[in-house]
Amino acid sequence: MDILRHAAGFTPLPNSINRLLDLAYNLWWTWHPEAQDLYRNIDPELWEEVYHNPVRFLREVRQVKLDEISQDSDYIQTFHKVLGNFESYMIYDNKWYAKKFPNQKHKPIAYFSAEFGLHECLPIYSGGLGVLSGDHTKGASDLGIPLVGVGFLYPQGYFRQVIPLHGTQESIYQKVRFSEVPALPVYDGDGKEVVVSVQLPGRMVHAKVWDINVGNMTIYLMDTDINPNAEGDRELSARLYGGDKKMRLAQEMVLGIGGIRALRQIGIEPAVYHMNEGHSAFLVLERVREYVKKGLTFDEATKKVKSTSVFTTHTPVPAGHDAFSFDMMEKFFVGYWDELDLSKDEFLGLARQDKDWGPEFSMTVLAMRLSGKQNGVSKLHGEVSRKMWQWLWPKKSVADVPITHVTNGVHTESWLAPELKEVFDGAMGKDWVLHPDDREMWDSIDDVPDETLWEVRNILRAKTIDFVRQRTRNRWHRYGSNPHQLQLIDNLLDKDTLTIGFARRFATYKRATMLFTDVERLKRIMGHADRPIQFIFSGKAHPRDEPGKALIREVYHRSFEPGLEGKLIFVEDYDINVGRYLVSGVDVWLNTPIRPQEASGTSGQKAGLNGIPNLSISDGWWPECYNGKNGWVIGTDEEPDAHRDAHYLYTLLEEEVAPLFYTCNDKGIPEGWLQIMRESIKTVGSQFSMARMLREYVHNLYMPLLIE
Ligand SMILES: *Cc1c(COP(=O)(O)O)cnc(C)c1O
Repeated sequence: MDILRHAAGFTPLPNSINRLLDLAYNLWWTWHPEAQDLYRNIDPELWEEVYHNPVRFLREVRQVKLDEISQDSDYIQTFHKVLGNFESYMIYDNKWYAKKFPNQKHKPIAYFSAEFGLHECLPIYSGGLGVLSGDHTKGASDLGIPLVGVGFLYPQGYFRQVIPLHGTQESIYQKVRFSEVPALPVYDGDGKEVVVSVQLPGRMVHAKVWDINVGNMTIYLMDTDINPNAEGDRELSARLYGGDKKMRLAQEMVLGIGGIRALRQIGIEPAVYHMNEGHSAFLVLERVREYVKKGLTFDEATKKVKSTSVFTTHTPVPAGHDAFSFDMMEKFFVGYWDELDLSKDEFLGLARQDKDWGPEFSMTVLAMRLSGKQNGVSKLHGEVSRKMWQWLWPKKSVADVPITHVTNGVHTESWLAPELKEVFDGAMGKDWVLHPDDREMWDSIDDVPDETLWEVRNILRAKTIDFVRQRTRNRWHRYGSNPHQLQLIDNLLDKDTLTIGFARRFATYKRATMLFTDVERLKRIMGHADRPIQFIFSGKAHPRDEPGKALIREVYHRSFEPGLEGKLIFVEDYDINVGRYLVSGVDVWLNTPIRPQEASGTSGQKAGLNGIPNLSISDGWWPECYNGKNGWVIGTDEEPDAHRDAHYLYTLLEEEVAPLFYTCNDKGIPEGWLQIMRESIKTVGSQFSMARMLREYVHNLYMPLLIE
């Protein structure tokens, strides 16, 4: 890699540790805490200041710190060990896919997504969809699946959330300097920067292509904030889900059409194209256009595209699907349909969906029609999707609609607390993370002594509460609180109390405030003399989602209400970092969506893996996992009703959750609770890992298209 040629301004590294720079530019470090420690240990304060970004760290670190550490023999020894691990990780031919499918290993699978959630220092994700894409890439690298990611590098990313004193979320957009994140410009064979162009009404828009290395995988990201573009077009990739419908359409054209052009310029010929949600669906049009240009008819071209495309839908709510008016589509695609050998009406008809207010061009319809494999992201969501899209297959019954499901999973090493990983290493051997989907292996968790598991749980809870206090202190500090007020924060939350976490996007269907349906009852439950309960909330609402913001405001104001104050807190600026603390540091993970609007939900999988049982409505992935011993189901499968669901929730807390947590043996250990923890670890760890998910994608979706 030629980092120094493209990215100047680093503090000179002593020779003995100069490979810290290579390491920084491969996101392998994001799931290897020991690699992060190589930077942290040089200057822990700076590491926090740069928000765990090793590229910024190496720019800003002081020379003396580097010189000092390069003399530390323990450090150097660790450095070589980590580097050795990295190098053996990078040997591609040792990976599962390379061994299992030696004839397929050179056929790339292009994976298109509007967001990639890889790490908190790279704010190009908004929530679950992005974190899934990031985990998908990391997992593909682990297994050796020849994936190539395509997405956007947003210079302002997704917003950072600030909760002012009045409690209404404000959005802060910070400019990300690309020289300060682990991304590098891509050059073509002639040494020129790769720039692609897409026709928009009356002008061309250009996008520069960057790459990010994730283990053995590469993600190509487009950036429209470059010189020949008009002012408005430079903003095109500025923000994830910012702007109006026109901007959104232009963004999706750059993602789908520009993305294909980028791959071509770089010289990549994927064998399969995977659209993660409909945002990238224009890629099928661009591929049809390419074939028509080569002399195929539209029908022949479509057949080819279909037989090599996979589409994953993520939205069980009809209004959540991306669609554009015919009027706009005509303006943006005038001329393009000629190149597809279609008339305007035929073109619009490709993705037509009739709504109450008229016909629309639906990205989901386009993707469904022009892909050979389609899937939802949980068993329940598969069923919902077959019903929702049955009209696209009018001759088929709902059950025969060809939308299957692959239930989401999470990247084990990215989400498992290092303290617990050590315990798991002890029980299952060091290599267990290479095959977390081996179910029998997890039985060894039963051999971990109660004392050990309970001790780690207590350490992680304390660590998370310290983090929450620090965040809260920083926030109060910003508003000029006096020392006395700041000191009160030392008593915020209690380190031995049953702690329940709720962190997710504040979309209304997730019903974050259902907990407050009967506040007096809630206060009695939380204030129980022997069995108290406390809550940690976190989450962002979309900047234009006023009802979502109102939910945040309510949680925030509740946190000052007598009976709740000090025992319930809203943590500002939910992101991957906050997420990591919460999904490893609370005792119970709460989820209260309106069934069946949660397509999958993955935060509960992260928690479950860390031995944090789920307390959830029977929605998304949870009905597939729940076995009566690894957590709780709130209510039944009846029609959702917030009052009734809240009642079920209170009763569970009073009669099952709290008593189990506080019933200890004579060593002070809640044996019943540890049983639930173990059961949660075993079921979630084995069945909801990214490794399991990816092997299903390979066997059920990618491979049938690859070997056709
Ligand atoms: C895992 C994760 C999500 C998704 O959580 P859900 O359970 O789907 O709501 C959202 N945001 C972040 C930062 C995450 O890490």
